[in-house]
Amino acid sequence: MSSKVERHVLFNRHEIEAAVRRLAAEITEDFRHKNPLLLGVLRGSFVFLADLIRLLDFPLEVDFIGLSSYGSGTQTSGKIKVTKKLETPVPGRHVLIVEDIVDTGLTTAFLQKYLIRRKPASVKLCALADKPSRRQVPVNIDYLGFTVPDRFLIGYGLDANQKFRNLPDICSLEAEE
Ligand code: 5GP
Repeated sequence: MSSKVERHVLFNRHEIEAAVRRLAAEITEDFRHKNPLLLGVLRGSFVFLADLIRLLDFPLEVDFIGLSSYGSGTQTSGKIKVTKKLETPVPGRHVLIVEDIVDTGLTTAFLQKYLIRRKPASVKLCALADKPSRRQVPVNIDYLGFTVPDRFLIGYGLDANQKFRNLPDICSLEAEE
């Protein structure tokens, strides 16, 4: 029996835009006088971060850290490696981590520990999506776009084998019999 993979739109570009606006308003309220460092987690967060910062009308800085837990498939290996180091000094800074998806939570927990060792003034987390059913370690998300089901998502920065990051909608990949 042959099976093929179909993609379904879970959140379209208009729903994403509304969510990013809501998050930007919440972040503005909390960070407008703090000159925060927005830390994008590569690669999945770059589209979200690019849209988000253009709605933040106050002084801020942006840096990126490359973290990887997935191999080439859709299953996490559970091992996190730093693929690109953070270049901005963290001591005394208000850091806002910008993540694409919190899934098992292992990547975020790793990053929070990594940052806290570097003595920031504060560390908060903004995530586009949360898959709570897959959590292995507790993670507190301060600013959340969408709660999503246990599906593999692509689009709006999210990839499958490095493809599909350019889709403007968030889609799920489903195997159809
Ligand atoms: P965690 O460490 O929380 O299990 O995984 C976090 C990372 O795994 C995310 O930042 C993201 O890069 C990747 N990831 C988790 N779920 C998905 C998904 O549904 N689609 C894609 N493309 N990446 C995912």
